[in-house]
Amino acid sequence: MRLRNVPGSREAIADSPLAINEPKELKGKWNEEFGNNNPIRIEIGMGKGKFITQLAMENPDINYVGIEKYSSVLIRAIEKCEDIEINNLRFIRMEAEYIQDVFEKDEVDRIYLNFSDPWPKDRHAKRRLTSKQFFERYDGILKKDGIVEFKTDNDLLFQFSLEQVPEAGWNLDKFTWDLHNDEEMVKGNVMTEYESKFSAMGNPIHKLIASR
Ligand code: SAH
Repeated sequence: MRLRNVPGSREAIADSPLAINEPKELKGKWNEEFGNNNPIRIEIGMGKGKFITQLAMENPDINYVGIEKYSSVLIRAIEKCEDIEINNLRFIRMEAEYIQDVFEKDEVDRIYLNFSDPWPKDRHAKRRLTSKQFFERYDGILKKDGIVEFKTDNDLLFQFSLEQVPEAGWNLDKFTWDLHNDEEMVKGNVMTEYESKFSAMGNPIHKLIASR
């Protein structure tokens, strides 16, 4: 994600009813925030939020939380929602490493990771959102039958992720190296911002689904 400092973005986020400023206070209480007991699905590293906003509009009986570490990007997601009536979507500006401070064990039903940062250097492997260190954190918030869905066009990151799933003690339920030409896995696919951009450049999109 190209970063520009968007002046005033922190203030605008603090003022938006969609942005949760003290997410730790909602740990174990997200159903109260949404006012129902519907399942909660999160996207970590949502960028400008096209994917999660579309899912929230299409599935009013599911609650969505988008997580992004940069306010300059998050503000774009908030702006997208300014003119629509949407009750089942919230945003958090935070570093994903601390996800267990924000969600209780079993509180999350599904985790989406889309076009996560590749962190190509070996010594940064544990920062990748599909590293076994991150799967351990997901284990601490995800329901027993919950799943992680991951998409990327990055070959090395995808290969690494395919290996980390079993190493973390998880199951690889399904995977494809060419999502858009996989008749079964592409059903209901919602494109992310990066997915549109990279597939237009001719890059095949890879996807895996993991569970415990
Ligand atoms: N999911 C979007 C954006 C992909 S770019 C899409 O597919 O279009 C990856 C995004 O993840 C960036 O906006 C980056 O700031 C965010 N991100 C990367 N690592 C993160 C982390 N550890 N915690 C929170 N956000 C993160």
